[in-house]
Amino acid sequence: DPVVTARNLSKVYGRGDNAVTALDSVDVHIARSRFTAIMGPSGSGKSTLMHCLAGLDSVTSGTIHLDGEEISAMSQRRLTKLRRRRIGFIFQSFNLVPTLTAEENITLPLDIARVRVDRERFDRVVETIGLRDRLTHRPAELSGGQVQRVACARALVGSPAVVFADEPTGNLDSRSTDQVLSILRSSVDEMGQSVVMVTHEPDAAAWADTVIFLRDGRVVAEMNQPDRDRVL
Ligand code: ADP
Ligand code: ADP
Repeated sequence: DPVVTARNLSKVYGRGDNAVTALDSVDVHIARSRFTAIMGPSGSGKSTLMHCLAGLDSVTSGTIHLDGEEISAMSQRRLTKLRRRRIGFIFQSFNLVPTLTAEENITLPLDIARVRVDRERFDRVVETIGLRDRLTHRPAELSGGQVQRVACARALVGSPAVVFADEPTGNLDSRSTDQVLSILRSSVDEMGQSVVMVTHEPDAAAWADTVIFLRDGRVVAEMNQPDRDRVL
């Protein structure tokens, strides 16, 4: 069964003459333990869809379920708690805390949520990001690609139901881009992680199992892995 389901989801910003329909009756199923990419031109609603699915943004109408639980009707308080414990985030601009080491940055969300760090999971995630010898370094001592790999580890370490990544490779050179996408791919293949990535780069979307295409706030196509080499 899907890890996240959106039914008849609409999101309108503003009201009256200024109203902008960012999402228009969208139905989306995010498959469990798969890598899903959301693609589309600028302004097509990618960020809005991700923010709604992740419980960061309220919906105008429709429903969103995470693991069978309706999040579209939750109070802000419950939603904040759910996000802290069940959802991992990787943002292009989500900088690490400069005064903390890589390891402290990775475990920070768990420390804030007062969740004990599972050392086995931590070791596995550090193995996957391949930065064991950088754990005591602070962000200023890491390259941009290494910083983003630490951000991946931070999103993965709590074994969230879903990791949401918003243009995670937007600021990276091609080598760092491949490293980040390979981490996301491995988290799916080796840890059964469910991952959702927003991107406008076809080369990045090619790493996903499923690509959902948005245009003008609607889902216009969905493509699964067997077709992906042929189409992209
Ligand atoms: P994308 O991520 O694909 O570029 P967005 O989800 O950011 O698309 O935006 C979809 C539409 O909603 C665009 O027309 C955008 O201008 C509009 N929009 C996004 N956020 C807001 C906001 N906070 N207030 C008003 N309009 C918004
Ligand atoms: P992206 O499309 O890469 O996510 P944008 O530049 O479209 O980035 O949006 C950046 C931020 O501004 C987002 O938080 C978005 O919700 C908000 N935003 C986008 N369009 C509008 C708008 N027309 N009015 C107000 N806020 C907007």
